Amino acid sequence: MREDLARTEILTTLGSGPLNRTQLALRLGLGAATVTEHTRRLIELGYVRELAPQAAGRGRPKVPLELVPDAAYTLGLRVHHTHVVGVLMRLNGSEARRFTVPFDPRADPVGQLAAVCARELADPAAGGRVRGIGLAVPGVIDQARGIVRISPHLGWSDLPLRPLLAERLPVPVLIDNDTRASTSAELLFGAGCDHDDFLVLAVGGGIGMGIVLGRRIHRGPDGVAGEFGHVPIDPQGPPCVCGRHGCLESYAADYALAARAYERGLTPAPVPVAELPRLAAADVPGVRDLMAEAGAALGRAAAGVVNVLAVRALAVIGESHVLWPYLEPGFRPAVESGVLSGVEIMVRPWDDSGHARGAATLALSATVAAR
Ligand SMILES: [Zn+2]
Repeated sequence: MREDLARTEILTTLGSGPLNRTQLALRLGLGAATVTEHTRRLIELGYVRELAPQAAGRGRPKVPLELVPDAAYTLGLRVHHTHVVGVLMRLNGSEARRFTVPFDPRADPVGQLAAVCARELADPAAGGRVRGIGLAVPGVIDQARGIVRISPHLGWSDLPLRPLLAERLPVPVLIDNDTRASTSAELLFGAGCDHDDFLVLAVGGGIGMGIVLGRRIHRGPDGVAGEFGHVPIDPQGPPCVCGRHGCLESYAADYALAARAYERGLTPAPVPVAELPRLAAADVPGVRDLMAEAGAALGRAAAGVVNVLAVRALAVIGESHVLWPYLEPGFRPAVESGVLSGVEIMVRPWDDSGHARGAATLALSATVAAR
């Protein structure tokens, strides 16, 4: 079951320091033959090197293996409706470079994205080491076929983004939904270090959920799994972007919070989302309560998923990190009182490059796992 991830996991485990093959097998719960086979290939690729043998008791000296972080890079792009954030990632998950370029999703998007990638590949310092490119796109993505089924934020539907980019670029290209791209980063570098099953809750303009079961990311048919924002809360509730009423997103997405604040008369006019934390910090009456209520709605819905899947860990990511201090007072108690067994809640620091790092990890797994 874990075989296809094994090679990537060997690589990311060595990212924390040299280990010999016996230690790797123990750490990852893999057979000795599997470790030998995968490390042989990683050494051939130049991603891993052998250090001087070290005496090991009475047995044969053991050969520690060391990751070569700069042997290869992957490029991750997060496609936003006004800009693209790019991250060039080393084999140990650290960033070699980060950039932001303007982007217009309506004007030849494939041409613009291909140009961004081509420019990075042509970079004399690092371009030749880029082994794969990942794109994180908001919306419903058919990851297997590389098609953007629907992305309301970008105004795209049925766009075969991966095949079109693959025609123009000399390295493998992958696309996935932005939450799931970040979930692959959690699997390799975050919650997955301690848990085989966990959830990733992404809060921001939309509300998504990444689901990892048995170290695999659950995508569902055509990539529609994880639409957590459309969990029904109240059919009499506010209208939702999906056309129904009272979805979780219509209470807890950042734009919805701003709209509710105005409806409740907490602000004299509609305010941009960025104003909300400022109003809460200034103790404008009702604003903290509004956000704590939204946090509680999120927490109750999340507790339901935790109970159904029996996961023990939940990582919170996303652009709403600035609102999180005000969502959390509702969220945490709602989760804790709603779950049947304990769950560890991990809140990740977040910035605009978060999903780009996820996209680069997506490309890393695919590049390393490729036979
Ligand atoms: Zn909805």
